[in-house]
This record gives sequence, structure tokens and C-alpha cells, in this order.
Amino acid sequence: MKTYKYPLGKQSNTIRIGNLLDDMWQVHFYFHTWQRERHKEGLPYVNFEGMCDHVKVLKETTNPHWNALPSQAIQQELRRIHKAYDRFFKKLGGRPKIKPRHKFKSITYPGEAGWYLKNNRITLTFRKWNPKTQKWQFDKVPYTFHKHRQWHGTISTLTIKRDACGDYWLCITTTYTDFKPLPTTGKSVGADFGMKDAYLTLSTGEKIQHPQPLKANLNKLRSLNKELSRKQKGSNGWWRCVRQLARLYRKISNQRKDFHWQLASKLCPKFDRIFLETLNLDGMKRLWGRKVSDLAFYQFVEILAYKCQKHKRHFKKVGQWTATTKPCSNCGFHNETLTLDDRQWTCPACGSHHDRDINAAINILRAGMVSVI
Ligand SMILES: [Zn+2]
Repeated sequence: MKTYKYPLGKQSNTIRIGNLLDDMWQVHFYFHTWQRERHKEGLPYVNFEGMCDHVKVLKETTNPHWNALPSQAIQQELRRIHKAYDRFFKKLGGRPKIKPRHKFKSITYPGEAGWYLKNNRITLTFRKWNPKTQKWQFDKVPYTFHKHRQWHGTISTLTIKRDACGDYWLCITTTYTDFKPLPTTGKSVGADFGMKDAYLTLSTGEKIQHPQPLKANLNKLRSLNKELSRKQKGSNGWWRCVRQLARLYRKISNQRKDFHWQLASKLCPKFDRIFLETLNLDGMKRLWGRKVSDLAFYQFVEILAYKCQKHKRHFKKVGQWTATTKPCSNCGFHNETLTLDDRQWTCPACGSHHDRDINAAINILRAGMVSVI
């Protein structure tokens, strides 16, 4: 499974997608509330097929405007609801949540129905009421998108997304899995995450710094937030400010993601096996606060894991309780007196001088290699 994301440019009929999302939210809201009410009254749960039948009744009676919605997207939404309740009943997940309107951000079309793709143009099938024939008829609306790359494989689902900035995106998910493995290099590496000196320290001695986009944009964020608080809520200026903030947050998150992808693409071709430590993120958040979110270790681990799987690299997280910082990588002596502030230390047993992070990275590599052999 691979997803390609393309921006849908601003065009005169974009508003129809916005309206479509808002109407789809009504479906989402209606069925979640309906199931909850039924549950309260002690009535049995209605499954996917039952909900589909109920939609048909609603279309004919109270909600005729739902006829304008693409039926595949409604079904997909009902399937989503059913999945959430199914997980809830099997005790795999919590009570299904009702999203507020502004958080309802995407509609998904399964398979080959309701849309048509050609070159950089997607045609979505809406429906409209024809007063002459007194019937609902199909209404095909074309949209152009910026096709910056070609997708591969057959398309399994198609999703239209709206982000916090009010921009629309086309996400194409394909079943493509035929990735070529990278040539083997015979090298392995251990990598240690750090908060202080470097983001990532490799057992080869290389240290990689993080751009910390949140920190870099903190002043801008603060002044925008201050400006927002001075504006009257709901006014034009207030909304303009909200949009500016949303765009800045998107930029920060894009910069971070970009750095993570680039770093992962740099590591994968160099090493056959990559070992990381398992992070205790909650503990780190308590200790370091905002910086942990800015460095987004978890996102990087996920991206690296994906890249490694794609290129047939061996990727493993070394157990959380494996000691990596304190043992000397040369002789194995446990330096119990080591504190967080000791960046360099000399082993009292064998006399070798260590950089704290490189020593940890070597220990991670060693612990990882044990599990390989
Ligand atoms: Zn030693």
C-alpha cells in the first residue's frame, strides 16, 4: 500500500467539495447519535447493512438532500462507523467518537466508482435534482490537480482531504508493493537518540542535528497568537489570523517531515541493518516538554521503519530495558556514577575515553547484533 498526495488547486467549483464534506459530516453525526440513542434505550445495535437500509428511508423522508451525496462515500462512512463500533464491542477500542464539524476532514471513495481520473484531472460524480424530469440525476464535476509525480499500481481507494488551512488534497492509495531492494553494503549501524548534543548519533561516530522547526518559528508563533488574542473573535481579522496560524503550523510540520524523510533516505542505502533504542516517550515528555514534540522521534522511527521495509533492510528496536548508556563499549564495565550531564567520560576499568552518545550507539549496535546472530 502506498499513498500519493496531490494538491487540488483553488478552482471555482472547489466549494462543492466543501459542501460535500459538510453534508457527509451530517451523515457521520446522524448515525453516531442514532446508535448512541438506540444504545441508551436498550435497542440492539444496527450493523452496516441495517444502516444502509436506514439511509434509504431517510433519503425518501426527512433528508432528501442526502440524495445529492455520492452513495459510495456514504457507504464508506457507514463502514467506518461500523468498524468503530465493532472494535468497541470486541473491547479493542474505546467508545466511538463523534467528530465536530471542523474536524471532519475527509471522504473516501472505494474502488472504481464515483470518480474518473485522466491525466491531471479528476471527475467526481455528484448528483443534482432535475426539476424538469423530477428526478435526481448524475452531475459530473471535473477538478484539476497538480500531478507532480506519477503513481504506480492499481488504485484501491481515493480520498479527498481538507486540511486546517482550508486547502484540498487528493490522496491516491495504490496496491503497489513491487519495490526494488537496495544493494547490500554489509554494514550495520546502531543509532542513539539524544536531546542535548545531537538528534541522532550513529555508532560510526557521525552526529546528526535536527533543524527544530518549532523552535525556529517560535517567535513568529507567539506574535501571531498575541495578535489573535487582540482580535475580536469571529471577525474578519480574527479569521485571517486563524488561517495564518494554521499555515504556519503546516509549514513547521512539513519542514519536520521533510527532514525526517531525507534523513531516512540517507541512512537506508548506507546500512543493511539499522538498530534503534526503544524510546520511553512519556518519560521524556515529562522531562523535556515541548522539545520532544518538536524533534518528533516517533514520527522518524515510523518513517525509517517504512523505508527499511520498502528497501528490504533489517530494522530493529533494541529492548527498552537493555542498558545502553552506562556500560563501557570497550570492556563492558558499568559506570554507575554516570549522570545526564556527563557528555564525555573515561572508563575506570580499561581507561578508554568515551563520548556518551557514541558509546550508547555502539552498545545499541552490539545489543542488536546479538539478536541477529
Ligand atoms: Zn572500559
